[in-house]
Amino acid sequence: MDDLFDYSCDRPVSIGQYVVVPFAGRQLVGIVVDITDSTNIDPKKLKKIIRVDEEVLFDKSLFQLFRFVSKYYIYPIGQTIHTALPTKIRKDADNKKPPLYQYSPSLLLTKNYIDTMPAKKRNLKKLALAILNGSINDINIKEIIKTPKQYIQELMAINLIHREEFVQQKKLQDTESKILNTDQQQVVANILKNDGFYPWLIYGITGSGKTEVYMALIDEYLKQAGQVLVMVPEINLTPQLEERFRKRFAMYEIVSLHSHLSDSERLDNWRRAKSGEAQIVIGTRLSVFTPFKSLRAIIIDEEHDASYKQQDRLRYHAKDVAMMRAKLLNIPYIAGSATPSLESWYLTKNKKLQLVRLPKRASKNATLPSVRLIQKDIKQQNSIFSDYLIESITNRLEKKEQTIIFINRRGYAPVLFCASCTWSAHCKLCSSPLVVHKKTNQLRCHHCDYRRKIHVECEQCGNIDLMTLGQGTQRVEEILMEYFPLARIKRVDRDTIKTKKDLDKLYEAMLKEEIDILVGTQMLSKGHDFPKLTLVGVIDPDHALFSHDFRASEKLFSQLVQVAGRSGRDNIPGEVLIQTNFSKHPLYDAVRSQNYESFADEELALRKALSFPPFVHHSVLKVESKWNSLLQTIMSELYDIANLINDSDVRIHHPARPFIDKVNGMERAHMFMESHSRIELNQFLIKLKSALIGNEIMKKVRFYLEVDPIDI
Ligand code: ADP
Ligand code: ZN
Ligand code: ZN
Repeated sequence: MDDLFDYSCDRPVSIGQYVVVPFAGRQLVGIVVDITDSTNIDPKKLKKIIRVDEEVLFDKSLFQLFRFVSKYYIYPIGQTIHTALPTKIRKDADNKKPPLYQYSPSLLLTKNYIDTMPAKKRNLKKLALAILNGSINDINIKEIIKTPKQYIQELMAINLIHREEFVQQKKLQDTESKILNTDQQQVVANILKNDGFYPWLIYGITGSGKTEVYMALIDEYLKQAGQVLVMVPEINLTPQLEERFRKRFAMYEIVSLHSHLSDSERLDNWRRAKSGEAQIVIGTRLSVFTPFKSLRAIIIDEEHDASYKQQDRLRYHAKDVAMMRAKLLNIPYIAGSATPSLESWYLTKNKKLQLVRLPKRASKNATLPSVRLIQKDIKQQNSIFSDYLIESITNRLEKKEQTIIFINRRGYAPVLFCASCTWSAHCKLCSSPLVVHKKTNQLRCHHCDYRRKIHVECEQCGNIDLMTLGQGTQRVEEILMEYFPLARIKRVDRDTIKTKKDLDKLYEAMLKEEIDILVGTQMLSKGHDFPKLTLVGVIDPDHALFSHDFRASEKLFSQLVQVAGRSGRDNIPGEVLIQTNFSKHPLYDAVRSQNYESFADEELALRKALSFPPFVHHSVLKVESKWNSLLQTIMSELYDIANLINDSDVRIHHPARPFIDKVNGMERAHMFMESHSRIELNQFLIKLKSALIGNEIMKKVRFYLEVDPIDI
C-alpha cells in the first residue's frame, strides 16, 4: 500500500524537499517524506539521491495530513502527495516574471469563425480557441503554443484579438464594513471566544449575512498576523464572493486556487500562500492541501455543496480533510450554509460541530420570499407553464423586475422516441438515453459526451414522426420566447456558460438589467445577489421525489431553498412558484415554510430508521469491465473474498449494479460495505485492498475503493 522507497543521501536534506533519484534505470523526481537512520535495504543496493532541490514544499503538519488522508482513503501516500502538488512544480520551469500583455477576443472571433479557418492552420486555430475561452497572457500562452508570436501577430492583423497591457489586479478601495446586527455579532463573538481547534457550523438562512460574518472573522485573524483559507464550491460560480473579499480586504494580498487557473498562475499563488505573502486564499476543494506559513482558520462556504467531494483518483471529501487539518494545526474550522448537509447537521446533535444560527435576513427590509406550490391539473399536463406562472412573469416584465426559471436538466428534451415502434435513442456506450440538443441538431450522451446528428427517421422502423419527451433548458427557453417575444431571455447551463468570463458577463448583464428572464439549471442556485430579481419559477422538480438515491430529497430540498433564496434579497419582496404534481408532498411543505430544521430532523429520523449514513459509514468497491459476464464472475468471487477476511462488525452487501450500469463502454458493479465504526471499516478496507492487489483476477478489471461515497 505504501509506495515509499529508501535512498541514501550525502548532503543535508529536509522532509518536504524535491529530489532527483535513480529509479529503474531512469532519473525521476521524488519528494522526501521521512528521514531515518536505518533501512531494510541491503546497503550495497541502496541508491543515492542525485540532486536536492532547495525549496521545501510541505511542512511536517502537512505530511501528517497526507498520512491521514492516505490511510483514511486507502490511497498510496506518494499519489496522495502528488494530488496536492501544483502540476507545474514538477516541470520545474519556474517563471516568476509577471506577464506584460494579455490577449482577449474581439467580437469577430467566434467559435463558428474558428470552425471556418482552414484545417491545416492547426496552431492558429488552437490559439484562437484558447483566447476565446479564457484569460490568456504572454506567460501562460506558452503553455498552449511554444512560440506564439507569429500566430498572435496573424490574429491581431485581422483584428480577431486585442492585446492589452497586463495590469495587476488594481487594489480596490477598502469598502466600509457593515455594522453587524445582533445575531451576527453574537456568532462572531462566540467563534472568537474559543481559541484552538473548534469546529463550527453556521446555519444561516439565505441572505442572513454569513459572508459578512466570515469577513468580520477574517478581519480579526488577519490582525493577529494569521492567514485564512476560505473554501468555496466551484470558483466559476462564486465570482461575487471573491469580488466582495477583494473590496473589503483591499489592503491585503488575496490569491485564488482552483483548476481553472493556468499552471503558472496556480504555482505562483500556491507559493505566495506558502511564503505567507498572501494572507487570504480563496480556493476550491484542492486548496485544502495548500501549504501556509501561519494558517489561522479554515472557512468553508456553502458547506452542503457536493463539489467538495472529489470523484476520481483520490476520492477525498475536502470538508473532512479540512476538519482534520484544522485539528492538526489546532485552529478553528468554520463551515456555513443555509441548508447544511445532513452529515454536518447530525454532527451538531452530538456536539462534534458547534451550531450557531443566523435566522433572519440581514439587509434592511429584506424578507424571505413567499413560496407557493402550483398543482398541475389534468388539463395542463401537456403545457410546461401554468397560467399562473405565465401571469406572474408578465407582471414582472411590466414592473421591470427579473425572473429566474429553474429546470434542472440541460438540453432540449431528455428522450427522443418513435411512437409507432417504441424505439428510443440510447447511447451505445452507456445505459442511458441520448439527450436532444436542438440548437446543434445533435443527440448527446450526458455521461460520456458521445454526440451525433439527429436522424429524421426512426432507426428501427423508418417512421419519420419522431417525438421528444420531457424538457430541458433549451426547450423551456424556446417556449418562453414564444410567450414573450420581446423579453430578453438568457439560458444558463453548462452548454452556455463555460468559463469564468461567461459568468462574469452574465452577472454584469443581470446587474445592468439587460436581462429579463434567466432560464437555467442548478448553476443558478449558487450564491448570487441580484437586487431586481423577484420571481423564481421552478419547473418539473418531481422526479427527485422518486429517486433510487436516498440523498435525493436532501439535494432537492437544498436546491429549492437555495434557488428560492435568490429572490427578494433587497427591499422588493420575492415570490417562488413551484409547479408540481404532488403539492401535498411533505418535502414541498418544508420548502414552503422554509423550515430547514424540521426537514433535517425528519430526514435524519428516516435515515436512522433505515440505517443509512450518517448513522452508518459506507464504503464501496467499484469495479468496471468491458465484459458483463466477467464482471459478474469477479463480483461473486470478490464477495467471497471479502467475507473470508472479514472478522469484524463490517456488513458486506451483495454486489449490485448501479442505476447507470454502463458508462463509456464499461460495465459497472458495486459492492457496498458498512459499519458503525469508521475505524473498523478502515481496518477492514486496508485488509481488503491488500487482498485485492495480490489477486490475479483483479488484473482483469478496473477497480477502486471509495470511502464515504456520495453517489449510489
Ligand atoms: P449570505 O452569505 O448569508 O447569503 P450575505 O453576507 O451575502 O448573506 O448578506 C446578504 C445581504 O445582506 C448582502 O447584500 C449584504 O450586504 C447584506 N448585509 C449583510 N449583513 C448586513 C448588515 N449587518 N447590515 C446591513 N446589510 C447587511
Ligand atoms: Zn420506429
Ligand atoms: Zn454515453
